[in-house]
Amino acid sequence: MSEKVLVIGETRDGALRNVSFEAIAAGKKVSENGEIVGVVCGGSGLDDYAQEMIHYGADRVIKIENEKLKTYTSEGYFQAVNKVIEQEQPAAIIMGHTAVGKDLTPKIASKLQSGLISDVIDVEMEGGNAVFTRPIYSGKAFEKKIIIDGLIFATIRPNNIPSLERDDTRSGNIDSLDVDITDLRTVITDVIKKASEGVDLSEAKVIVAGGRGVKSKEGFEPLYELAKVLGGAVGASRGACDADYCDYSLQIGQTGKVVTPDLYIACGISGAIQHLAGMSSSKVIVAINKDPEANIFQVADYGIVGDLFEVVPQLIEEIKQIGIKA
Ligand SMILES: Cc1cc2nc3c(=O)[nH]c(=O)nc-3n(C[C@H](O)[C@H](O)[C@H](O)COP(=O)(O)OP(=O)(O)OC[C@H]3O[C@@H](n4cnc5c(N)ncnc54)[C@H](O)[C@@H]3O)c2cc1C
Repeated sequence: MSEKVLVIGETRDGALRNVSFEAIAAGKKVSENGEIVGVVCGGSGLDDYAQEMIHYGADRVIKIENEKLKTYTSEGYFQAVNKVIEQEQPAAIIMGHTAVGKDLTPKIASKLQSGLISDVIDVEMEGGNAVFTRPIYSGKAFEKKIIIDGLIFATIRPNNIPSLERDDTRSGNIDSLDVDITDLRTVITDVIKKASEGVDLSEAKVIVAGGRGVKSKEGFEPLYELAKVLGGAVGASRGACDADYCDYSLQIGQTGKVVTPDLYIACGISGAIQHLAGMSSSKVIVAINKDPEANIFQVADYGIVGDLFEVVPQLIEEIKQIGIKA
């Protein structure tokens, strides 16, 4: 395919999310010689984001600046992105499988009467078709899908398709598109953030996760320290969240976040299927559990049978000495 691919960028906390760059890389796989058109929406001052998309492989970027797009709303972004689609008539659309991507893309697919392949972890061209791989049955199996007719539309899971090398010499046009955002039924008046430190869990390269075996809020402290020395983030099982050892925003699994870090260290987590659904495609899994029969060892690349309160401090000391960081 050598046609136009629209990549919808996503910003958070003053930066483009990495998955936007990964979506550009996926776009390049779908259309090697086609044009990659980035889209970025927001209140104002989008030039730097647009430029970043170009450095990571977009050929040009359309920015839509409007006060009503300052914070994401389904209706506002829907109107903005639809206008770009009407103008550009892309052959493919790709976006991150994030909270925003999961909210926005089905609405657009419904409007366009197109299919949508969600939560993609890989894409390859085979016999002229873009073949998308996605996990099913809580990550126990994978399916390959193609769209046989019409628009190719997909969301990609963060941290799976490597972004292209950043190239600051790449140039491309940044065009403005005016969109009249009308009839918003919801308006965000304020965003109250939970105090969270450091790395974003869904994009972290290293995650140290704790389960019910951590036993208390205080028990999580060594896990925070291990995450800090590795430049990673802390996650949790639902067991740990239910026991109020940590906030539900840290929950990983079927009803929590789905993560794919380079390194996942599971501390005192038994490995229930619902937990595995959120982390089993991590690249390297290390499990620390005092029960040698714990299910988590079935998916672990490295297993440490032992008490996490002895093992984690030793790991921290060793890593400090070696000086590894993600
Ligand atoms: C519909 C549904 C959705 C769910 N969604 C999720 C989800 O999204 N995410 C999720 O995680 N769960 C989810 N669950 C819950 C899931 O089934 C498990 O109950 C949960 O994952 C168990 O958490 P845990 O592994 O921390 O606790 P446990 O199963 O109690 O395991 C604790 C582990 O810690 C070990 N341990 C204890 N002390 C130590 C120590 N000192 N050192 C080392 N190891 C120690 C034990 O050997 C044990 O293996 C869901 C369940 C349902 C029904």
